[in-house]
Amino acid sequence: MAHIFGTHAVDNGGIHMAVRRASAAGMAAVQVFTAIPKYYGDKSRIREERVERFRAALEETGIRREHVVVHAAYVLNTANQDGEKRGRAHAGLVRELERSSAIGAAGVCFHPGSAGDGDPERALEWVAEAITGALEAVSSDTCVWVENTAGAGRTLGRTPEEVGAILGAVPSSLQDRTGYGLDTCHLFSAGHDIVSSPAALQETLDAFEAATGRPPAFFHLNDSRYPMGSNRDRHALIGAGEMGEEPFRWLLADRRSQGVPLILETPQQENDIAPDNPSADPHDLAMRRLLERLAS
Ligand SMILES: [Zn+2]
Ligand SMILES: [Zn+2]
Repeated sequence: MAHIFGTHAVDNGGIHMAVRRASAAGMAAVQVFTAIPKYYGDKSRIREERVERFRAALEETGIRREHVVVHAAYVLNTANQDGEKRGRAHAGLVRELERSSAIGAAGVCFHPGSAGDGDPERALEWVAEAITGALEAVSSDTCVWVENTAGAGRTLGRTPEEVGAILGAVPSSLQDRTGYGLDTCHLFSAGHDIVSSPAALQETLDAFEAATGRPPAFFHLNDSRYPMGSNRDRHALIGAGEMGEEPFRWLLADRRSQGVPLILETPQQENDIAPDNPSADPHDLAMRRLLERLAS
């Protein structure tokens, strides 16, 4: 099996343009937002023309729908202690899954949210209830994936045990539509040592696999602007951050990086690219070449 590199490309002009830009950078996978990431989007549905343009771009570029990842809005706090806000977040996740299913994505990933000053175990159950509710409300083959977090404040999903507890509380009949993904910057910022040796990296992946009973469904490949254990979520170009290139070489040599989307969420050079310009981002091109070198 091969590595499936992808990027969260700039979507100026629409999400179909993100597909074209990812493909122009030599990517076989792509990640998009289907709503403005800073808003709940709990009411927004996706227009049919957007879906058609997106699917046409996949067809044209040869990017397979199994390699399309949607990133949910950042603000969805499915563990919010305030019942009304939590309800909105759960409704927002249903809408995310509806839109992700409409465009035919393999899955939608989300940050599980924060326990605030409440009971963390109850908070983990709320996250599982959000996943369960979304999967029950939307019948499709699109998955809902938990993403590990950098662990700022009381955010959930920092440890293998927390991710395992969330997934373990989803009913078994829905298990094949859930899972998790690992962001390298978040692992590092959360204090997991994935940089001192290949064995240290493997132990971290082993711990997530043991706690959840499955390998990751995707990775986010990001270097970190801040040191290990900083709990800060600031991505850097691979090799330009505190992690350096080597951990990525080790990850690409691990079986778990094969056959799943490996999505760059690293800085883009052309954030203001013209809406009709399908060119690759120069940073993405450089990152894809670097990853191929590290994988060989
Ligand atoms: Zn994320
Ligand atoms: Zn991040």
